[in-house]
Amino acid sequence: MNICINDKIFTIISEVASGESAEAYVIGGWVRDCLLDRNHPEKDIDIVVTGSGIELARKTADKINPRIRVSVFRNFGTAMFRWGDYEIEFVGARKESYRSGSRKPLVEDGTLEDDQRRRDFTINALAISLNKDTYGQLLDPFGGMDDLRKKIIRTPLDPGMTFSDDPLRMIRAVRFATQLRFTVEEKTFKALSENAARIRIVSAERIIAEINKIMMCNKPSVGFRLLEKSGLLAIIFPELDNLKGVEKKDGRAHKDNFLHSLEVLDNIALNTDNLWLRWAALLHDIAKPLTKKYTRETGWSFHGHEYRGSKMIPDIFRRLKLPLNEHMRYVQKLVDLHLRPIVLSQEEITDSAIRRLLFEAGDDIDDLMLLCEADITSKNEKRKMKHLENFAIVREKLREIEEKDAIRNFQPPVTGEEIISTFGIKPGKSVGIIKNAIRDAILDGIIPNEHKAARDLMLRKGRELGLTPLENDPGA
Ligand code: ATP
Ligand code: MG
Repeated sequence: MNICINDKIFTIISEVASGESAEAYVIGGWVRDCLLDRNHPEKDIDIVVTGSGIELARKTADKINPRIRVSVFRNFGTAMFRWGDYEIEFVGARKESYRSGSRKPLVEDGTLEDDQRRRDFTINALAISLNKDTYGQLLDPFGGMDDLRKKIIRTPLDPGMTFSDDPLRMIRAVRFATQLRFTVEEKTFKALSENAARIRIVSAERIIAEINKIMMCNKPSVGFRLLEKSGLLAIIFPELDNLKGVEKKDGRAHKDNFLHSLEVLDNIALNTDNLWLRWAALLHDIAKPLTKKYTRETGWSFHGHEYRGSKMIPDIFRRLKLPLNEHMRYVQKLVDLHLRPIVLSQEEITDSAIRRLLFEAGDDIDDLMLLCEADITSKNEKRKMKHLENFAIVREKLREIEEKDAIRNFQPPVTGEEIISTFGIKPGKSVGIIKNAIRDAILDGIIPNEHKAARDLMLRKGRELGLTPLENDPGA
């Protein structure tokens, strides 16, 4: 018996199918990953059924436990249920034909082989029989096993047609190449480049789901290089594509910001599984083309690219259909702050500069430091070590100051309400002036982060503004 179907769920499906005189096969990702000995955290199982997938799903769930809820998607002819860690999807074997201009195929019932033919890649078309007489047999009409051995991504049918029919498959090809570290076979890649413009008919939601999977790979640059090489990147993510290239003036060149951004992304991927920190790494220099300048005296500069970059992010997120929520604001903040620790590490580090950085970065300070360390892509080992040592000093200083002053989640020790009730004034400009004066004094180390000192400063500042405390003020 094939090791891939050792789990008990497969014998249950097999028994139910034979009682129904339906044929059932495991197909797709489960088979591929099992043959590759790849551990999958999610246990997604796809079952293809000649006959009704929905019926077989219902009967199988019923046999396991009548209380299991089966979700039915009648329009797609599919049904799924969860059992423990498993998520099992049943689909009736089908034959598909496409019309141009749409990703939605015409669908009719078909054989197992018809169904394998509609799959995106040979390695995803492998099926294992769950039928009594052929239980465990591998069904591989397109040489998927061979391609697994050769580590190749190839389409079962003509690649041009496969990609033109459903252009999302082009991004999937790149995603599998990145996840599995496979090569996209030559003809397949050629067709991918030729059909790149077809990606426009695919929704941004489907594309970003695949891009995020690329982002979460061990070495995401592999995917972005393929997207660039095929011409897909220029269409789906022009801002990133724009970072490409090196300009030279008076014999002085700047670095290729596309390759640099990818290197930073790969570096940070070694240290974090936080998708949004990975996005911040990819986007940290996104405004460099906008801010590029050359002067004979100072050479190449990209002044303000961190700020301009953070301002570009909402548009990018909106278009790519990334979430416009706290994740976006986190990415903006890291992009905006990404030079601050570098500047700090190059100067005499003052406590007040450290406090201001802690105040602005808040709880994201550790992520910011990871980003800065990933940003060191110098090939000069000595210089690289020097930068890392400087950052180690910044980190130590951050720790010391945080321990002493607790700035990380700064809460003003005197609130607006206290200012209002002390002077008997209405909310307004004076309250803001006093609050800012207190915050600045704390960040500059002029007063400690404590209520008494802050209150004294409030009274002094109030007097300067012509305010007098009320006689009966409880805090006085
Ligand atoms: P993973 O679950 O790791 O993303 P997978 O191969 O299971 O990998 P799914 O997106 O879950 O990928 O799809 C399941 C199967 O459905 C694939 O293995 C493939 O056979 C088929 N498939 C999915 N999307 C397409 C598509 N756009 N065109 C053709 N076949 C597809
Ligand atoms: Mg899957």
